[in-house]
Amino acid sequence: MKMADVAVLLDREEARKRWSRGENAFGGELFEILSHGGIPHRRVFDPKELGKPDVLLVALAGREAVPLLKDVAERGGEVFVFGSFPEMAGALGAEEKMIEGAGYAYTEEENRPPLRFLRACRWRVSSSAPCSARGGLYGGNHDGPFHGPLFHRFAIGSGGITHWAVDLPGTVVGLQQGTRPVERDGFPAPDGTAGIDDGILKADDGFEMDWEVDRARTETGERYFAHPYADLWKETLIGSLLKAATARGLTLPFVDYWPAGVSQVAMISLDSDWNLDDSAETTLRLLRECDVAATWCLIEPGYSPGIYPKVAAEGHELAFHYNAYEPDGGAWGREAFLRQLEWLRRAIGTERVVSNKNHYTRYEGWGELFRWCEEFGIRSDQTRGPSKKGNIGFLFGTCHPYFPIARADEENRFYDVLEISFLTQDVNLGRLADESVIVPFLEGVRRVRGVAHFLFHPIHLHREKPVRGALRRVVEEARGRNFDFWTGEQIDDWERRRRRIRLAGVDEEGRPLVSGSAGCEDAAIMVPGPRGREERGGTGLRHGVRCKAWSRSRANRV
Ligand SMILES: [Zn+2]
Repeated sequence: MKMADVAVLLDREEARKRWSRGENAFGGELFEILSHGGIPHRRVFDPKELGKPDVLLVALAGREAVPLLKDVAERGGEVFVFGSFPEMAGALGAEEKMIEGAGYAYTEEENRPPLRFLRACRWRVSSSAPCSARGGLYGGNHDGPFHGPLFHRFAIGSGGITHWAVDLPGTVVGLQQGTRPVERDGFPAPDGTAGIDDGILKADDGFEMDWEVDRARTETGERYFAHPYADLWKETLIGSLLKAATARGLTLPFVDYWPAGVSQVAMISLDSDWNLDDSAETTLRLLRECDVAATWCLIEPGYSPGIYPKVAAEGHELAFHYNAYEPDGGAWGREAFLRQLEWLRRAIGTERVVSNKNHYTRYEGWGELFRWCEEFGIRSDQTRGPSKKGNIGFLFGTCHPYFPIARADEENRFYDVLEISFLTQDVNLGRLADESVIVPFLEGVRRVRGVAHFLFHPIHLHREKPVRGALRRVVEEARGRNFDFWTGEQIDDWERRRRRIRLAGVDEEGRPLVSGSAGCEDAAIMVPGPRGREERGGTGLRHGVRCKAWSRSRANRV
């Protein structure tokens, strides 16, 4: 079976025009979505070099590209365009109308909630156009004004062009990273459960959920953001892509999110605020009892020197807890970051520090923190999570690791820092949510096979029995749902390794052909099966498509 040729076009000339005006070209987020999806693809930066893709995702293109894109469809390819593309709309006899503000999209996929979007552009299509429509867009909340279909597909030649009214890459970036740099306090929850307007700049000052529509209640009344919308958008896109390939009699093998045998991952991180040695000892005992390795984020001045070898000897990760919170003696800046990191490296006696989380989730601007991480060798960050009781859960729309994108001033490049956001801090601590959130969080993460990251402070584990009980319950409920516990370092290592796997095709027996995957012996390769074909064992549903799972040892190496 022939493998689909998937291409993503980001017209570099067009991007340069935007950057020179200070505008973002966040369409490039499609590269990140496909890379994390494990989907083999070509990156094209000049529309004249498109070749003959079977499926083409347009991240950014201008007027000159329009005939070339139509040509791809004429020859049988499927072209996806997103949000506003007035030149293409004009060429297809449609008229653009920008939709003001956020809203919700119905994808017509089974068991999928309406998905929040941040940017969308409606196409009004003349009745004579050879076009079909699917899904729907609503403004405000789920039952706000109807804005039109989510998809318009124009049949062209033996292929087609599908317009997604939602600016999918722009929406994913906005949900995960905010729509502007953090320069002022965010708006607090109207019910008083999340006073993020505390005069301290934090990651959660720049979130893009709706306090009313996007929160659900647990059985005890705790409120939480219930949907990983960004992850669900990625799943919608990849599912559409896989279906476009299989509809053409092609296959599209891809690298599964986790190694063979791992369904999804849970993670516990510990912030050492207060640095009480007894609290570290209590935490070590508790984790030993639960048989879980955790990521210990250490804040200056740290524990007594004797603690670190004990923590490391039990398989835990020693990580950085950067303090930029002024009332606790911290400072926001490159020099403070470096000085504290050098302190940590001396304290624990190793240069190798993989992960960081900022104390108090203190955060400013857009990419400063990621630039410092890159410059000083921190590979993964976990600062982007909630700081209050009432904004826990999928606050940033994702529980998957991702590489953040820069703004126009850095030409929308990707930072070489893997972000792993967390769901909540210190479950069962009096001022935070109770343990009724644990199961809904795990179920929400399991649905998209991400990382269920719970943050605890050893000081609270030491002093508060209910918090210790919450950690035990996290472990028990997670294990019962087939979660594997990993540290941040393990997640970072795996995510970087799996992205180096190169898939060259599929042989006559349907086995994936793998090259360039040294060190990825544990990977699972998924091959979408032809519709309706019965497969015995080793299959799974991925992005709504039935796939056969191959472990690397059974795949063909080339
Ligand atoms: Zn802290």
